[in-house]
Amino acid sequence: MAKDKKIKFGRQQAAQRVNDIWPILKKTYPQAKIALEFVNPLELLIATILSAQCTDARVNMVTKDLFKKYKSAADWAKADLRQIESDIKSTGFFRNKALNIKGACTRIVEQYGGEVPGNMEDLLTLPGVGRKTANCVLGDAFGIPGITCDTHVIRLSGRLGLSENKDPVKLEFDLAEIVPKKRWTSFSHMIITHGRNICKARKPDCPSCPIAEHCPSAGKPELW
Ligand code: SF4
Repeated sequence: MAKDKKIKFGRQQAAQRVNDIWPILKKTYPQAKIALEFVNPLELLIATILSAQCTDARVNMVTKDLFKKYKSAADWAKADLRQIESDIKSTGFFRNKALNIKGACTRIVEQYGGEVPGNMEDLLTLPGVGRKTANCVLGDAFGIPGITCDTHVIRLSGRLGLSENKDPVKLEFDLAEIVPKKRWTSFSHMIITHGRNICKARKPDCPSCPIAEHCPSAGKPELW
């Protein structure tokens, strides 16, 4: 059960709230976009795998050189696992990440002709790729709407009364019903940016929040 029982999580009300906050978020964060740096779907896939339990800034530092060394899925697939581990070590959890990257790229080479597949079903067959990573790749590299449920989206969805689900997959499906599909990717980026800048985990800055008048948790620490 959610701790914030005092928030009403009705679907219609939540959809209305999304409608109300959308123009404000759009005006506040016109440049909101993914913080990971990439130039093609493969680079975004690798960067997203590396970003687990790691800051985007650190990942960008590491991938700057990494993407010069490994340019294709085949480069990753044939690389020595220990070498990959060493190259990505500073992003943390490097053994698992190296296994997943090599495994995903091997499958991309063997099953998809060396190209990252541009649909959810196929992306989910790649080692280390769950719906969050797949949505991120689809939304930002392929222009196919995707809702990325990271820690900020989970936290803010609760505070804003959009969904009480903390499970990322359940939350994704909840949000998909109340956010117009064409806005899925940009809505995710704006909520993530708002979570980073104002509605922070420990101490949300409600007095400075441009969507406070639409937020049932505004100024209520018991609901944070
Ligand atoms: S009013 Fe406060 S709790 Fe609500 S979205 Fe803004 S910062 Fe977060």
